[in-house]
Amino acid sequence: MKYAGLASTSPALASSFDWLGDPAKSIRAGEFQLLPLGRVQPKGWLRHQLEIQANGLSGHLDETWPDVGPKSGWLGGTGESWERGPYFLDGLIPLAYLLGDERLKAKAQRFVDWTLKSQTADGMFGPASNNDWWPRMVMLKALAQYQEATADPRVIPMMQRYFKYQLVALPNRPLTSWGRFRWQDQVLTVLWLYDRAPDPALLDLAKLLRAQGYDWMAQYENFQYKEKMSSAHLDQMEKTPGFKDIKLATHGVNNGQAVKTGAIWSRVTGADADRQAVLKMIAELDRYHGLPNGMFSCDEHLAGRSPSQGSELCTVVEYMYSLEQSLAVLGDASLADRLEKLAFNALPGTMTDDMWAHQYDQQPNQVECSLHKEPWSTNGPESNLYGLEPHFGCCTANFSQGWPKFAANLFMTSAQGAIVAAAYSPCEAQLKLQGTNVHIAEETEYPFRGSIRMTVNPSKPVKFPFLLRVPGWAEGAEILVNGHKENAPKAGTFARVEREWKQGDVVTINFPMQPRVITGFNNSVSVERGPLVFSYSIGQDWLKLRDRGMTADWQVYPSSRWNYALAVDPAAPSQKITLTEHALGDRPFAAEGTPTHLKVKAKLLPSWMASEGTAGVVPESPVESAEKEGTISLIPYAAAKLRITSFPRLKENS
Ligand SMILES: [Zn+2]
Repeated sequence: MKYAGLASTSPALASSFDWLGDPAKSIRAGEFQLLPLGRVQPKGWLRHQLEIQANGLSGHLDETWPDVGPKSGWLGGTGESWERGPYFLDGLIPLAYLLGDERLKAKAQRFVDWTLKSQTADGMFGPASNNDWWPRMVMLKALAQYQEATADPRVIPMMQRYFKYQLVALPNRPLTSWGRFRWQDQVLTVLWLYDRAPDPALLDLAKLLRAQGYDWMAQYENFQYKEKMSSAHLDQMEKTPGFKDIKLATHGVNNGQAVKTGAIWSRVTGADADRQAVLKMIAELDRYHGLPNGMFSCDEHLAGRSPSQGSELCTVVEYMYSLEQSLAVLGDASLADRLEKLAFNALPGTMTDDMWAHQYDQQPNQVECSLHKEPWSTNGPESNLYGLEPHFGCCTANFSQGWPKFAANLFMTSAQGAIVAAAYSPCEAQLKLQGTNVHIAEETEYPFRGSIRMTVNPSKPVKFPFLLRVPGWAEGAEILVNGHKENAPKAGTFARVEREWKQGDVVTINFPMQPRVITGFNNSVSVERGPLVFSYSIGQDWLKLRDRGMTADWQVYPSSRWNYALAVDPAAPSQKITLTEHALGDRPFAAEGTPTHLKVKAKLLPSWMASEGTAGVVPESPVESAEKEGTISLIPYAAAKLRITSFPRLKENS
């Protein structure tokens, strides 16, 4: 078999195909395996959160937004026939099946049935009016989840026919544009199928996609995009030799999706260098574009480290998905630390508490959400409004995947037969290990509190290692089994507890939750506790801009001062930060539902001002202020819809 596209690849790339023609060589297993959708069931606050989502825009989007409504091309209609239907399904399917919500399952089924029946004799599927490879990559991810949840026998043969078709068609109609920059998302599904029905032709297809796709690993091997990308800069650079791809290469969502490229590709090559590419990408994004909410700036191109810059919601959920997939391949605890940081801060922070409205761009220092062009690199004036489809509707269709996929991936298994607690939230997991059913009930108010209780219930006594993630911030964590303390676990690793597990065994984990002060851009400070980032919540006036069917678009104006500098010592954070705790409410990420407040000493800094609805760049710290010292309250980032997260730090005794 010939591989079109390979001839044009670099020698380095070609060398990763050394085993070409050796169908006996199978792909490399990840360190961990993802569980099929439905094995983890959300409980407690996490289930409430998914119910809020189902009762909000996610569960009603098709009723109020024509792009995924009855005329959708993905239902055979003449309406939107590109990415929005598949995006919607990619989140609706896990939401419906995790909640066991028959109303949502029925909505999803209509799209699934139409899509499966749309396949033509040659193997192509989807709306005939649009043959772009990209939206099909998304629909394949949605169908894989649907197959895991239902075992519908139509899915795997349909994928086999499509991939066979694509292997023949791609050489003549190669990947372009979005598909070229997001090829790794299709390799993911190709390998998903290979894991279930191994066929060497699938690896041929994976290699073809890689050969036609953009070389993300090369981009980050020698990272060039270290500054904020303005429209003018992008227009100019595009004409410079070697930079013709700059707009797609610095596009936020593309980069969020690309984070998993090395992990996915390492399963094909077996190369550790490919695995390491994941950590290298994250490190470069943090170094040049990192923000205190765990995101990198992308509004919508990479935009530097100022906390007044924004991050697109699509990038939040795609970065989360990349971290989940990469964690499974690498087994690196830091990827789960980041996943939790995004899930508990950036994701809920960019939506209204009822999940009926969202932003396109959120800012760590977000002092006003109004119609303004600043400070975005390339986005438009509606970008940080809360609404149905501010700026552009991609996030409207795509955001639904965030919470459900996070919930579905809380537990994994390892290649060595371990159960892995990858990320923490209240849930139950039902696993099969060495032929024995093992049920685990996890009870916790994490991330708001540091104690987690897991009851292990195997159907009969069974010996296995239980890998428990100890976050990098959790120095001094304790793990107890039936009240007996295990050896002190090391932060930033997976602690291993191996024993014969019997019904009713209880694992207790206590994570220390002292506040931490993190130094960031311009030596500003932000405050974290556990996986939560804390912000000063600015008084808010919500002003409806217009009704949008079942929801509305909102501007939000500040009704209080916000320009505070903090009196904190990064070396001894607990000294000046005090904690108040309350009961956890029904909306854990709403201001009235959050159980955790921090009090900290602060002074106003009148010279720090806003212009065009945007906080000025946070001044270089330390700063001095002649204002009177007072105490301000910080609440979880997500609960503060107008917020300051990166503060100037007061010079001691100023
Ligand atoms: Zn988007």
